[in-house]
Amino acid sequence: MQFQNTIAFARSLDAQDPLRDYRNQFYIPKKDGEDTIYLCGNSLGLQPKATRDYLEVELKAWEDFGVEGHFMGTNPWMYYHKMFAEPTARLVGALPTEVVVMNNLSVNLNLMLVSFYKPTKQRYKIMIEGGAFPSDYYAVEQQLKFHGFGVDDIIELTPKEGEYNLRTADIIAEINKHADSLALVMLGGVNYYTGQAFEMAEITVAAHKVGALAGYDLAHAAGNLHMHLHDWNVDFAVWCTYKYLNSGPGGTSGVFVHERWCNDATLPRFAGWWGHDEASRFQMKKGFIPMQGAQGWQMSNAQILPMAAHKASLDIFDKAGIENLRSKSDLLTAYCEFLLREKEGEFTIITPKEIKHRGAQLSLLMGENGRQIFDRLTSKGVIADWREPNVIRIAPVPLYNTFEDVYRFAEIVHNA
Ligand SMILES: *Cc1c(COP(=O)(O)O)cnc(C)c1O
Repeated sequence: MQFQNTIAFARSLDAQDPLRDYRNQFYIPKKDGEDTIYLCGNSLGLQPKATRDYLEVELKAWEDFGVEGHFMGTNPWMYYHKMFAEPTARLVGALPTEVVVMNNLSVNLNLMLVSFYKPTKQRYKIMIEGGAFPSDYYAVEQQLKFHGFGVDDIIELTPKEGEYNLRTADIIAEINKHADSLALVMLGGVNYYTGQAFEMAEITVAAHKVGALAGYDLAHAAGNLHMHLHDWNVDFAVWCTYKYLNSGPGGTSGVFVHERWCNDATLPRFAGWWGHDEASRFQMKKGFIPMQGAQGWQMSNAQILPMAAHKASLDIFDKAGIENLRSKSDLLTAYCEFLLREKEGEFTIITPKEIKHRGAQLSLLMGENGRQIFDRLTSKGVIADWREPNVIRIAPVPLYNTFEDVYRFAEIVHNA
């Protein structure tokens, strides 16, 4: 498509956008009575207007039934988490038995490392991206220490001199270089800083070829990329639901465990009663028998209130369809990039240009006046995010951002 740098063109794209009405299903934060240009959905997604009603249903069930709410009301809490299996599977490209919603992201990452980092004397290294999100680094670091290894056993991937992103061929070469000692490749689906989307299918194949496993932190990929975790043979994945998935601050988290591991009782795992075989759970007997599927990794009973907020959002995703969202997202981000490129020189877009290497996010490496431009954006009603030392991250989100949003954003950048 031949883009044009005019408000009329931006508005014509909005008029043709089949998903344009979804914006009305969200609260857009205001500044001085006007809608802000909210480009921070990669950090905290906006609140669906329906969320309050979903919460209200569970508050009312608690009010009306007390403990009996586990079995009574619209969505008996006893089975609440099961409602997520189908829509979550559609969202990430999994079988319903391969996914479960529980806990929070960093907790789940630690739980997955317990099961999927099984070092031996020969094979014990973990590969991560250099500059990984700190939580991920800490989890890996502590897991290594727990097994008697150390940070020297972390292989950190870094871009070639003068480049910002990792090349898939280089990642694979690094996997091959450590073929005999590599236990696990653990990358973000999309790097939180650069916005680079990793080629999970290819990387997973390469990891498996040398006898290692591959897991992904999809914090910035879930609700953003169109994924096929099952077909890609990913061993495990975890994600949070408050970024692109709009499930509210501190919201619950999702987990994927590939079918081939789902019922493997030899995997080490931490346990709690909610992962125990449902049929005998309330017999309160000794001896852990895991449930079949990813549900067998649950520990605690479901957090109904955050999960109600998650359900409100997931129902919207299921209706809109991640494939459709992704199509719009490609166009929206490409348009934003087109508008920004005209001003490149004052900053560098460090997010890859190719659509298969990125999602909704663009990261702008700023020059000397970076902080000034950011402050101006803020004063003009743009909500974006500043990452030290010098990066502005923006994420035009297909569910609620418009082409006019990105036009107006770029206009403010250009006039800064
Ligand atoms: C947002 C994010 C987290 C946050 O973890 P929580 O447990 O939800 O606080 C962790 N890892 C990555 C890669 C993230 O982007």
